[in-house]
Formats: sequence, structure tokens, C-alpha cells
Amino acid sequence: MASLIRTLYKYSRNSMTSSYRTISNTANHEQTILADRESSMKDDLPINFENNPFEKKKESCILCRYNIVPDYKNVRLLSQFQSSYTGRIYGRHITGLCKAKQEMVEREILKAQNCGFMPVYHKNPNYLRDPKLFDPDHPFRPHKY
Ligand SMILES: [Zn+2]
Repeated sequence: MASLIRTLYKYSRNSMTSSYRTISNTANHEQTILADRESSMKDDLPINFENNPFEKKKESCILCRYNIVPDYKNVRLLSQFQSSYTGRIYGRHITGLCKAKQEMVEREILKAQNCGFMPVYHKNPNYLRDPKLFDPDHPFRPHKY
């Protein structure tokens, strides 16, 4: 009888300690889970960039880049936008200029031609060896027609 009581007591004590252990284990486990969740939430927070990292570089045409204002007296510059075979003013898809500068160049070329500074049907032969700003055979954009 006494031995039975002792075993019962031992059993109950074992079960109590084991149950206590399991409770403490789950508590620890929950704590670790919470800590993990907190850290992961911190990792998932959005990073604040000062500037937009996906911002595209602002493209500027060659005249805007060097801050050049075309002038009817600067015939050498204007001749670079003229075909050496026909004297035609190259279009914007070839020159790659922005609309404002292209219109300015065309206006100044007409002014220079009307003043007699620039030939109309060919390029001035003195400027034929000038460096090319663009390749008319490989335009920046395809022609719209
Ligand atoms: Zn421009």
C-alpha cells in the first residue's frame, strides 16, 4: 500500500513537473516566435531613400548640354546640321536635338542663308572635314513617316 502511494506520488510529481516544463517550453517558444516576428517586421519595413533610386537620368541634347545658343553668325556650327550633299537641314530624328534647339537651329540657318553667310544647296566645303555630331545613316529615332 505504501509503495503504491509512493509510486502515485512520484507519478503525479513527474506529470506536474513535465506539464510545467511543457508550459514553460511553450512560453519560451512563443517568446522566441514573437521576437522573430518583431525582427522580421523590422526587416520588412520600407527603406526610406532620399532620392528615387529608379529615377531616369534627364537626357539633354548636345546644345543644351554645353549651353550653346545657335546664332546665324556661327556658320561653322550651323553647317554641322546641314547635309553636305543637298544642303538640307537634318531633321530632329537625326540631330537628336530638343524641339526648342532644333527650331532655333533651323531659324538661324535660314537667317544665315538669307544673309548670304551659308550656302543653300550644299555645305560650305571648308567645313566638310568638321567632326560629325551624328550619323545621318543611323538616326537617333526612326523617321515618323
Ligand atoms: Zn536641348
